[in-house]
Amino acid sequence: MNYQTTCLIVGGGPAGVFLGFLLARAGVKVIVVEKHADFLRDFRGDTIHPSTMQIMHELGLLDEFMPLIDFHTGTLNVNINGVSFDGPDFSHLDTKCPFVGFVPQWDLLNFLATKAKAFPTFDLRMSTRAVDVIRDDRQDVGVRNAGGRSADGRVVGVVCEHDGKTYEIRADLVVACDGRGSTIRNAMAPPPDASRNNHRVDEVGIPIDALWFRLDRPEGDDGHTQGWLREGHMLVTIPRRSHYQIALVIRKGGFDDIQKAGIEKFRDTVAKVCPILSHVCGSLESWDDVKLLSVQINHMRTWHQRGLLFIGDAAHAMSPVGGVGINLAIQDAVATANLLARPLLEKSLTDSGLAKVQARRGPPTRKMQRLQRLAHRALFSGGQQIDKPFSPPWYVRYVVRFLAPILRPKAAKWIGLGFVQEHVETPSTAVSQN
Ligand SMILES: Cc1cc2nc3c(=O)[nH]c(=O)nc-3n(C[C@H](O)[C@H](O)[C@H](O)COP(=O)(O)OP(=O)(O)OC[C@H]3O[C@@H](n4cnc5c(N)ncnc54)[C@H](O)[C@@H]3O)c2cc1C
Repeated sequence: MNYQTTCLIVGGGPAGVFLGFLLARAGVKVIVVEKHADFLRDFRGDTIHPSTMQIMHELGLLDEFMPLIDFHTGTLNVNINGVSFDGPDFSHLDTKCPFVGFVPQWDLLNFLATKAKAFPTFDLRMSTRAVDVIRDDRQDVGVRNAGGRSADGRVVGVVCEHDGKTYEIRADLVVACDGRGSTIRNAMAPPPDASRNNHRVDEVGIPIDALWFRLDRPEGDDGHTQGWLREGHMLVTIPRRSHYQIALVIRKGGFDDIQKAGIEKFRDTVAKVCPILSHVCGSLESWDDVKLLSVQINHMRTWHQRGLLFIGDAAHAMSPVGGVGINLAIQDAVATANLLARPLLEKSLTDSGLAKVQARRGPPTRKMQRLQRLAHRALFSGGQQIDKPFSPPWYVRYVVRFLAPILRPKAAKWIGLGFVQEHVETPSTAVSQN
């Protein structure tokens, strides 16, 4: 059986679920397809910034959302070689919630999906994978690719797979929210014609990867320090109610060497960099407990084509620096709903309407990526061996110590609210069934 809808969203991450919620709330018929059976995935973004909480407030959801926050803090603090420094200070931001909240991503997504399901025009299909795009060959103006399909025809839907069966979902608009490894992006750029495709991605070379793992929170720990730099290593602790989600920053490609040195050595490094973890890191038993995240920064040159739009990580993968990934994905979703809900409802969507989304969200995203690259350069400058620990150059330590009073509020604004802050402008026209 094939389906027809107004907006088909591929990917039930923060961008996709938020966009689905906002469009359904405005009365737009929307289907969200998510390849996994649930939202329960470890080591995903957990940092909810003031910009996202402001959106929750504007949607009237803040009171129900707040209890999901495991832990919140007005500052992100750093400990360098045993000395604590205050990082970005969010407490002075002019916003409803001037702090960063740590919320397991599955709680955020379950919360929003449950709210969205109350709107009759919202349809979330779990365990449903988008496998290809459908183009309207009648409008084909371009050459055909090796498979004989149109390379440039308007996108009119997606082929999905569920329970071993494939079917089509056709839509006025497909929004690809399927993350940094976007299937839709790959489907738009079949290898033989890759050079012709206008969805080229600018990749920025990043010198680091991150190893993610979890450890129990030691007794009496206050969870206030999130960054630890010692003996050339860097580790980030994200507090949850009973445990820490932890990232150890390593040189890109260095995981094989770390594995060869053994898990014992790895535990020693963790304890050395973050002494409060020394009593709990014994629970790291094997490399199965450690997940490698290949850190990436990239940006699609063009986020849209006829009938198709990319947002969130699918359009721009962010580095973990500043924990901005989820929040930018949500800002993209809000801007998309603001700009496209009415044209979708009125069946008046144009290509220039899609271009407006990139015009709105592209510049602040690129600015944030420039800031992240600056941080990468400062903290992890080149010239060091892959198997050696890295250490911030002297001027970075100088900046942290002396310029902190100037930089802390600025950094808090950039990280907490972003360079362009979105507000909910879509009306709530659909009647919730709750
Ligand atoms: C280990 C790790 C830690 C991170 N830590 C942070 C952090 O602390 N703070 C922060 O802000 N950001 C963090 N990030 C980044 C953050 O998770 C992302 O920027 C954010 O989730 C992007 O949201 P998205 O909706 O665009 O994409 P994603 O969250 O990647 O969601 C994409 C969704 O699409 C689904 N999907 C993919 N392909 C298909 C398909 N073919 N069909 C159907 N569904 C599909 C996926 O299953 C997924 O649910 C982290 C990322 C990782 C990997």
